[in-house]
Amino acid sequence: MSQPMSSDRRRFLSRIVLGAAALPLLRMTAAQADLPHLTPDDPAAKALGYTSDSSKIDPKASPTFKAGSHCAGCALFTAPASGDWGACGAFAGKAVNKNGWCMAYAAKG
Ligand code: SF4
Repeated sequence: MSQPMSSDRRRFLSRIVLGAAALPLLRMTAAQADLPHLTPDDPAAKALGYTSDSSKIDPKASPTFKAGSHCAGCALFTAPASGDWGACGAFAGKAVNKNGWCMAYAAKG
């Protein structure tokens, strides 16, 4: 017959499980910080009309742009733990500015 688990042992085991669950998030945050910044002259950025400062967008030149929309409000943006640059689902391997915008913008639901 097995002995009941002590509360100390249960607490210790739950900390290990929580720590293991948080590890991928820490790795992702560190990886994001290392991503090179996407520049508007990058061919992929040009194709989607990316800019790192949405306040400078000419609505006539970018008719799909809605005033006030920017990367931080986009469903494809992964906010960084700190700073202005985060990962974007549209530009793998590059970080975009939270104040940026591109034609792939999808408002968070
Ligand atoms: S897809 Fe969204 S987060 Fe990525 S650059 Fe475009 S607006 Fe910004």
